[in-house]
Amino acid sequence: MARILVVEDEDHLADGLRFNLEAEGYEVEIARDGAQAALRLTDAQPPLDLVILDIMLPELNGYEVAQRTRASGNYVPILILTAKDQNSDLVRGLEEGADDYLLKPFHLNELLARVRGLLRRRRWDGGPREEESQRTLDIGAVTVHFDRFEISTPAGVVRLTTREAALLRALVERSGEAVTRGELLEEVWGLRPDTQTRVVDSFVVRLRRYLEPDPAKPRHIVSVRGHGYRFVP
Ligand code: CA
Repeated sequence: MARILVVEDEDHLADGLRFNLEAEGYEVEIARDGAQAALRLTDAQPPLDLVILDIMLPELNGYEVAQRTRASGNYVPILILTAKDQNSDLVRGLEEGADDYLLKPFHLNELLARVRGLLRRRRWDGGPREEESQRTLDIGAVTVHFDRFEISTPAGVVRLTTREAALLRALVERSGEAVTRGELLEEVWGLRPDTQTRVVDSFVVRLRRYLEPDPAKPRHIVSVRGHGYRFVP
């Protein structure tokens, strides 16, 4: 059974989410401020399968919680909740490593659909198998396992977040072609192509750290000046 942490300081929302998620068969924990959430997320036991994270929180805000979670090496999927008209909030959340977002107020069905989508990556070994060649990709000394969001490197296994894997997939699918930042923002994050954000660049930095023998001199994820990025197998 999937275990979900709900981080929300408004009691009626937290309790409503708990009620509805439990009705779907999930186990639910609630953290009512950011400090409590960060403690829970950096202490891995028992492991969580998903975090639903409000941005406006007492103690630590949602960005700081996401940032600390990723800095501690925890790659649990994070769904952020942010108020409408706070586009910069949402972009900053994605820059800190959140996997998906929902604008408040949201419909319950929409939330449940996002939850199922983010949990699907955790069930990779139960679902139907694609052809081996579509699921894995060798890049120099590393192997990318798209089906389980992992990269095997000589130094060990790296777990990818949903968006890291989607970004890599988007570049690999158009191997050899220059893909613009706007196209990647739209395809991977569902943002408008003209959104002002460094999210693509910061995720490319992370992917290079995993894939490139020398991340300072990338050979596989190459910058195309004034345009975007190109994947070179
Ligand atoms: Ca709040």
